[in-house]
Amino acid sequence: MPNSVIQEIVCCMGQPVAGNPTQFMMERAFIAAGLDWRYLTLEVPPDDLAAGVGGLRAMGFKGANFTIPHKVAVIEHLDGLSEAAELMGAVNCVNHVDGKLIGDNTDGKGFVQSLREVLDPAEKRIAILGAGGAARAIAVELGLSGAGHIEIANRTESRGRELVELLNERVKTESSFTLWDSDYSVPEETDVLINGTSIGLGDPDAEVPIDASSLRPELVVADVIFNPPQTRFLQVAAGKGCKTLDGLGMLVNQGVIGFQIWTGIEPDANVMREALEEYLEI
Ligand code: NDP
Repeated sequence: MPNSVIQEIVCCMGQPVAGNPTQFMMERAFIAAGLDWRYLTLEVPPDDLAAGVGGLRAMGFKGANFTIPHKVAVIEHLDGLSEAAELMGAVNCVNHVDGKLIGDNTDGKGFVQSLREVLDPAEKRIAILGAGGAARAIAVELGLSGAGHIEIANRTESRGRELVELLNERVKTESSFTLWDSDYSVPEETDVLINGTSIGLGDPDAEVPIDASSLRPELVVADVIFNPPQTRFLQVAAGKGCKTLDGLGMLVNQGVIGFQIWTGIEPDANVMREALEEYLEI
């Protein structure tokens, strides 16, 4: 469109930037919605983050995603935070409204939106493997959605206990910790089991250490890993009759939520999922 005037620009700031499936997905969604918007992927070193955010303000970008290593550091450069981002202490999505930069976190919201397609988390018992950024975002958002109990199983005790404390004290969701030092046995009353670790990223054969005999067919089993989407963890769960949710759904939904935040309109989620599948050659 050589003669068109770009209406708005959104960007992603991170480092290093080696291809960005989100850019591919967002640009397809803008076209499908008839918006002449652009989504730029920008490599910004940590020492230049303040200048990067200043540039976003000065050039009037409509918003941005922030990724590793900026999700925590960006907070001091913003004008306000959503409740979820404030509780998580991490921002991955910023909206530029009336000259103010407002930070949100769409990772957990994207997960909860995927989960809601099969189950309402209210009052449910959830077990999460891992306590890193993704697990933290999911746990806080599930707590804000009224989950009944969240068990965090993590290899590193201090990190797991810190998340449990956050859930109990600030999110006001009953939570407990299990040290994950051997095959995890899913407690019988659990409704949802989530792999929130990086195990399985880029490795379809990677095993998440769980006791497969504790997987009941009533369980919903979800994975944050989106590449490959059919992880070994999900395949084992499906083999036990569990309903499964892949990480691609979470990635699409966090993109859908970002799109809504920036544009105020509903994107075509199918176009976004197809774009991701094409980009990832699935
Ligand atoms: P972090 O590095 O913050 O956390 C990683 C977590 O995995 C920690 O709890 C770590 O445990 C645990 N872990 C890693 N390896 C092992 C292992 N061998 N055994 C047991 N535990 C292990 O990463 P993030 O939380 O930011 O990301 C995790 C994954 O989520 C990534 O693969 C990322 O791609 C994916 N993700 C997917 C999204 C989506 O939309 N689908 C969105 C965001 C992230 P410990 O604390 O003991 O080190």
